[in-house]
Amino acid sequence: MKASPCSPRMPKEPLERHYDILVIGGAIMGSALAYWLTRITENGLTVLVCERDPTYACSATMAAAGGIRQTFSSPENIAMSRFSAGFLRHAADTLAVDGEAVDPGFIPRPYLFLAGDAGDADRLRAVHAARAEAGAPSHWLETAELDATYPWLFCDDLLGGLLGGPDEGTFDSHALLRGFKRKAIAGGAQFCDQDVVALERSGCRISSVRLASGIRVNCGALVVAAGGSSGKVLAQLGISLPIASLPVASFLFSAATPPPVSGNAVMPIIVDRSQGLNVKPEGGAFLCAMRGATTSTSFDTLVWPALAHRIPAFEASRFAGIWESAIDASSHDGNPFIGPFSTHPDVFVIAGFNGHGLQHAPAACLALAERIVHGTWRSFDLSRFSPERIDQGLRATEHF
Ligand SMILES: Cc1cc2nc3c(=O)[nH]c(=O)nc-3n(C[C@H](O)[C@H](O)[C@H](O)COP(=O)(O)OP(=O)(O)OC[C@H]3O[C@@H](n4cnc5c(N)ncnc54)[C@H](O)[C@@H]3O)c2cc1C
Repeated sequence: MKASPCSPRMPKEPLERHYDILVIGGAIMGSALAYWLTRITENGLTVLVCERDPTYACSATMAAAGGIRQTFSSPENIAMSRFSAGFLRHAADTLAVDGEAVDPGFIPRPYLFLAGDAGDADRLRAVHAARAEAGAPSHWLETAELDATYPWLFCDDLLGGLLGGPDEGTFDSHALLRGFKRKAIAGGAQFCDQDVVALERSGCRISSVRLASGIRVNCGALVVAAGGSSGKVLAQLGISLPIASLPVASFLFSAATPPPVSGNAVMPIIVDRSQGLNVKPEGGAFLCAMRGATTSTSFDTLVWPALAHRIPAFEASRFAGIWESAIDASSHDGNPFIGPFSTHPDVFVIAGFNGHGLQHAPAACLALAERIVHGTWRSFDLSRFSPERIDQGLRATEHF
């Protein structure tokens, strides 16, 4: 059984009535940010993280498939995923507390993005070049090479595919969350099990937040890391950002004659763009998700036909379960909102990762912690992900 990320049990109420930085949301973003804030400042700041659900049952973090890849059209996302891959490989040591390690258990397995039309093929070729430049090489396969390499894949309607590299694979999201949280607490951050129900201002500055217990806590700066609820939280300050929780489902199934998951031509994590389908080996079974498939009946009507089309061996597959959850979606341009607001200089946001947040948390939270503490972007320039881009009419489009 996996260790609960919420142990050791958090206090119900904060110990102080003033903190330098108060973070709303204590899942992967809130916990990783608290870790980096304490690490950068060496306990020079008081940090409180408020998390309304210590079981994390409804968080995207606990539902995540734990995939990491470098196939992105935004250079920032390639760079962040490269950093995170290195971080994950050493996380057991980096996040150990009193010699007790929490290993996110990175398992290498490349992603294979399949192009079903000319536009996607062009975009994936561009990513291939961008990856090479960023030091995260990939391999572009024309249809014939795809066919020869993966004989179990139906390729007749494909225009090629982009195969990723050794820094791609899967890891345990629960373990990473637990590791960040424990290390942040060991570094001096405080967590409390509380819903933040109101934000109070004095002019354009944030003065305090009110907790569900009725207690008021003052803060110097506020960070909204509330996943799909971040839009609602910010609306209390009159800030409008298109972030919401979007229902999604993951389907588990077994196959009578599965593609090889080890040895030669090992099955990569497949992203079939033309069908909006992704599928990966999971233990002795397979895990998949598909655009528009959100209920268990979708498996027979949508998912299974798409699986059997792309991998004919999946014709003989058996549905084993569904996991319904919600993704932290931002509808603007596919990229998250990270950074401060010029109208509220002491309010920051880090949310709306559209299904990429788990892998980007180690890097994105380091970048934001530096932005908060030093006032400038240092390890990563994430200025293109500024929440101000909405009002500026700018887009930082992520295609993948
Ligand atoms: C099915 C699925 C598969 C995914 N697969 C991957 C993957 O393979 N790779 C990848 O990188 N990413 C993946 N993701 C995306 C990733 O899980 C998210 O981007 C990431 O976990 C977002 O983290 P978060 O901390 O911003 O939000 P969340 O994990 O949703 O956490 C937000 C937290 O804020 C708390 N909160 C909200 N409002 C308040 C309030 N007012 N007061 C106090 N607390 C509050 C909530 O209780 C919650 O715990 C997947 C997501 C889903 C749903």
